[in-house]
Amino acid sequence: MLLRWLVPYRYSRAIEEIDLRALRADGIRGVIVDLDNTIVPWKASQPTPAVQRWIADLIASGMQACIVSNNFAGRVRTLAEHLHVPVVIGAVKPTPWAFRKAMKVMGTTPRETALVGDQLFTDILGGNLLGLRTILVDPLSAREFPTTMLVRRIERLVRRRVLQHVRPSPHA
Ligand SMILES: [Mg+2]
Repeated sequence: MLLRWLVPYRYSRAIEEIDLRALRADGIRGVIVDLDNTIVPWKASQPTPAVQRWIADLIASGMQACIVSNNFAGRVRTLAEHLHVPVVIGAVKPTPWAFRKAMKVMGTTPRETALVGDQLFTDILGGNLLGLRTILVDPLSAREFPTTMLVRRIERLVRRRVLQHVRPSPHA
């Protein structure tokens, strides 16, 4: 059933609320991070200090991060450089190549890799298809491309149902 592939491993309201020690305890060594609406609102050029700190703490704790974005824009690279995190652009999520490339960059296996994203049909579906530990977050902003808006409308219908299936985190 399709729904099964859309259920994230975990849910968190915001990326900076994800418990890094819990990720480590789960055996996670690398985290694939979506960009738009996960670490920055659409078209914004800077993540909030809280998000920057979360990424810095992740790296300081010995894990790795890689940004994977469907976006091609130059600001994606600028942002990734600012955060000192590698990036894979033009990802065409949910197709798996960009996630595989990110794992290659980080040197991690699917079981050791978490994925944080705000969209069920790109981030969560793509991550689940590869067996990653997917973590759904609430989108930071509602402003997006018209196509994404359409997907988002469908997504809202599915989202509530999917969240009922997420196992409660023992660390929450
Ligand atoms: Mg996104």
